[in-house]
Amino acid sequence: MKLKTYNLLPEFGTNTYLIWDESSNEAAIIDCAAPDENFLDQLKKSSLLLKFVICTHGHGDHIGGNQMLKSEFSPTICIHQNDAEMLTDPKKNLSLYWEGNVISPPADRILHNDDEILLGKIRINIIHTPGHSRGSVCLITENSLFSGDSLFAAGIGRTDLPGGNYQELINSIQKKIFTLPESMIVYPGHGQTTTIGQEKIENPFAGLASKL
Ligand SMILES: [Zn+2]
Ligand SMILES: [Zn+2]
Repeated sequence: MKLKTYNLLPEFGTNTYLIWDESSNEAAIIDCAAPDENFLDQLKKSSLLLKFVICTHGHGDHIGGNQMLKSEFSPTICIHQNDAEMLTDPKKNLSLYWEGNVISPPADRILHNDDEILLGKIRINIIHTPGHSRGSVCLITENSLFSGDSLFAAGIGRTDLPGGNYQELINSIQKKIFTLPESMIVYPGHGQTTTIGQEKIENPFAGLASKL
């Protein structure tokens, strides 16, 4: 798997990840934060075939570029069933409150826990990790975890927004994320890359401190 990270919405610092399978050139974008002409141009000039846009959850800062990508490449937009209605509703995806007014095309594919998305030779496994939002998911490919706003380096996502639940998020992290291999690299929705092993010790919300 090849990977490139973009920061298309600097005010939120949302990570947009482009991943692709070198053998087929099939590509997926995880959380297209905002429409961006440079990003679009790069994709158009590349030989990549954009097959999927996978949303880790429905907040406006993770779906703002979906319309741009849909118009140009017509990828399959994927989101968990519990967050699907947020795509097309700026109030539900909260962008109304920061005047982003984000309206994404509706979901083409509804995700469930344990679903698998095939991207050329790459298998992407979906795990449902509610708590930051009701339909938050993480994606597992090879030795990588795309954790959305469920887990950050030394942090966790907000749980005070509609659909958020602190205890549910801690449960998701401890039962579904911290059971993954410690060497697994974590690519979060915001901030720097980390590993499962590092967060199990150092994360002040869900790591060692939560077990003492
Ligand atoms: Zn979020
Ligand atoms: Zn976010």
